[in-house]
Parts: sequence; structure tokens; C-alpha cells
Amino acid sequence: MKKRDIFFQKLKNSLGEDSFNTWFKEAKIIRERDEEFVIELDSIETCEWVENNYLEILNEVASEITGKKVNVYLSTKNSNGQYTFLKKEMIIDDTQEEKFSLVYSRYTFDNFVVADFNRVAHSAAISVSKSPGKSLYNPLFIFGGNGVGKTHLILSIYNYIRKHKKGVKALYATTEKFKRDYTLSLRKNALDEFHKVYRNIDVLLLDDVQLLKGWESTQEELFHLYNSLFMRGKQIVLTADCPPAMLSGIQQRLMSRFHSGLIVEIGEPNIEAKIAILRKKAEENNIAIPFDVMEYIAMNTNTDIREIENCLRNLYINVCLNNKPLNINTAREILSYLQKTKKKRLTPELILEYVAFEFDVKKEEILSKKRNKEISLARYVAMYLMRKLLDIPLTKIGHITGNRNHATVIHGYNNIVEKLKNNYEFRDRVENLLYKIKNECVN
Ligand code: ADP
Ligand code: MG
Repeated sequence: MKKRDIFFQKLKNSLGEDSFNTWFKEAKIIRERDEEFVIELDSIETCEWVENNYLEILNEVASEITGKKVNVYLSTKNSNGQYTFLKKEMIIDDTQEEKFSLVYSRYTFDNFVVADFNRVAHSAAISVSKSPGKSLYNPLFIFGGNGVGKTHLILSIYNYIRKHKKGVKALYATTEKFKRDYTLSLRKNALDEFHKVYRNIDVLLLDDVQLLKGWESTQEELFHLYNSLFMRGKQIVLTADCPPAMLSGIQQRLMSRFHSGLIVEIGEPNIEAKIAILRKKAEENNIAIPFDVMEYIAMNTNTDIREIENCLRNLYINVCLNNKPLNINTAREILSYLQKTKKKRLTPELILEYVAFEFDVKKEEILSKKRNKEISLARYVAMYLMRKLLDIPLTKIGHITGNRNHATVIHGYNNIVEKLKNNYEFRDRVENLLYKIKNECVN
């Protein structure tokens, strides 16, 4: 199968036949470059609708089959036969849960493989889904390492309730989103609205609560929300990367709430569990993988299930597109390639890109003479990170960040150091960015 066919096939699987035929029947991929797909649709109205409703899924599917972060752009031919592009905007207005739920809908109990490492967590999740708020498991606290299935499991609860418990209102939020919603509502003086969304529910599913670290006022808000829900017999489910007792930077009283229900761990998948997961994923993708290949992959990946998925995806593409045989040698080739390309080499330009993305400004703006608050801040953070992560002289940093002298760089660096001391939220943001860069890049 060609990459394009795979793309549309997967899209059809995600959207369902009807929606697919309504919007994508005439769709074509007209350009396919490294990190960019351009799709032609039949009219500008279709483009608009698809952009508002499906862009996130398109991006996901494209990224999934290429194994890279791909942006999809929509286009249509105007009356002169020339292509016009729709301006790409923020895909999902993240206050609109409905749209999210499309992306989330693929994480269900049906495609969650149960094995020893997650059996207890899975059965607790099932009980909670069947009788939310009524079991002794309140709150249910699920913890475990990276990529072991916490998000998948908590979203399975969400999807189960949406499907089988019509009158029960479940809300899933990442802790990032919760923090964002809360701070935004404070800034906009719209706390009432925030309360309306978060208190008017029967089940709260909050993912990755370790990220509340240092966010004092958000924790305060969660504490009150928790009490309000709990007293009314509502269900609360939380996930984190460690057990409650080991959470750092979280208020004691919140921790003791986290402690008061059932705490379950998702451990690490062993070889058999990884093979079971591989088998299931291969089945979902309609490929038959020989046992020795599955075993090889299971033995040569770590416990992050994303890595297994990534390997499978690459295997799939290589076999389908490059007509390679589906055997151990191909698997070996792919794994060694993946291991080599896992991390990007860290350069000053890359830091600029990370910062621009995080602060939602353009790279050119960081380099420009503009001095409004957000841009200056992004510029200073870039200087700070370059100094911290790369062994390059101040003059060079000044040069790279828009021909500035070294005194400006020192000023920028110190400015950030001060701000990190005094502002928790800012520290959290910079720490997350640092973590992400270190995780994805090598020096
Ligand atoms: P976490 O939130 O613990 O970091 P995720 O839930 O995001 O991990 O899981 C990472 C990937 O592995 C997801 O694509 C998820 O669908 C898949 N995955 C995790 N656990 C399972 C499982 N038990 N069965 C099938 N797929 C799984
Ligand atoms: Mg997760």
C-alpha cells in the first residue's frame, strides 16, 4: 500500500465511514514533504470545516504513519485552477471538550491489553467505570512510569462512561490543561465559568497530577474542587508518575486526599506482555508479524510502550512501502535506525525553535528589535537556555539571538535567573522546556 492510501485508510478508521465520505471522498494529498502534508479538498467550505473539526486528527494520522511530527495544510483550487490555502490556525480550541473527545476516543478498554503489570489498575478502572462514585475506590489514584498506559487507562474510563452511562458527566483534563484553564479564568476574571465547567460534573479524570508541583494557587483550587465533588459523591480519578507519598511540591492536605482512596500501580511490561501488546497492535493494523520478529522487538525495546508502537509503525511502513520482507533483519535494521535517530543534535537554532514554540512567538520576532513583553521574555529564555545547555561564548549567543552584544546577553540571563527564583509558574514552564529539550536532543 502507498503511504497516501495508508493515510486515508487510517483516517477512515478514525472517523468512521460516514464522516470520511462526507468530507474526504474527493481528498487528495498534493504535497508530501518531510514535515508537511498538503491535502486538497473540494471547496473552501470543506477546508474550513475540516480545519475546525479534524485537523488534529489529520496531524496525528500523518505523524503516525511517518513517525515524525507532521503538520497538515488544507488547500483547494479556486476558479482559475490555482491552489488557495487556508490559513493554518490553532486546531483545537481546547476549551471545547467535544472536539478533543474525537482524538481521545481511540483509547478504550477494548484495545487495552491486560497483563500482569497492569491487571490491578485495569480492574480498578473497570469498577470505577461501572459504578462511578459508588465504589470504595474514591479517589482512584493510578501511578506508573513513562508510557506504561496511564493515559490510555484513564481515557478508557472516560470513553466507557460516555458510551455506557448516558446521564453521567465525565470530564477528562490533563493537569496542564487544568492549570491553564484556571490561570486563564483568573486572568479574565471568569472564575465562575471555570467553576461551572469543573464542578458541574460527576466524574473528574485528572491526568499527570505530578505537574501540579509548585503551582500553589492551582492546588488550592483543586483542593476545593476535590472537596466539592467528593462531598456530593462524585468520582475522582488521578494519575501520576509516582505514588502520592512521593509527589513533591504538593500541599500536604491535597496529598492526604490523594491517599484516601485506592492507590494502584501500573508496573512495567515484561517480554510476554510486550508481545501481547505487539500482537494486538499488529492485529489492529492488519499485519501478521512472525513470532520471532515480535519477540525480537519485545526484547530490544524498553518499557515505554510508545517505543514499541513506533517500531511497529516503522516496520509497517517499510514492509508496505519499501517492499521489505517482514523478518528479523528488517526489524533489526529499523530498531538500530530508530535508536540512532532518536535524539536530535542540539544547536542554538533548535533552542530558538523550542522557545518560539513554547512562547508562541515567531523565531523572526525573537531575532527582531521588537521589545514587547512576551517577545523579550522568549528572547531572554533563549539566551538563558543557550548559556545553560551549550558551550558557546556570550558573544556568539548575542549574535545568534539577533546581533545583540554580550552585555544584553548577561542582562537577559540574569533577568531569567531572578524570575526563576520568584515565580513558580514561570519556573515550571522553563523546567518543563528544559526537560523536553534534554529528552529529545543530545549535545
Ligand atoms: P502514559 O500515560 O503512562 O505515559 P500512555 O497511556 O500514553 O502512557 O501509553 C503510551 C502508548 O502506549 C499509547 O499509545 C497507548 O495506547 C499504548 N498503550 C499503553 N498501554 C497499553 C496497553 N495495555 N494496551 C495497548 N496499548 C497500550
Ligand atoms: Mg500520560
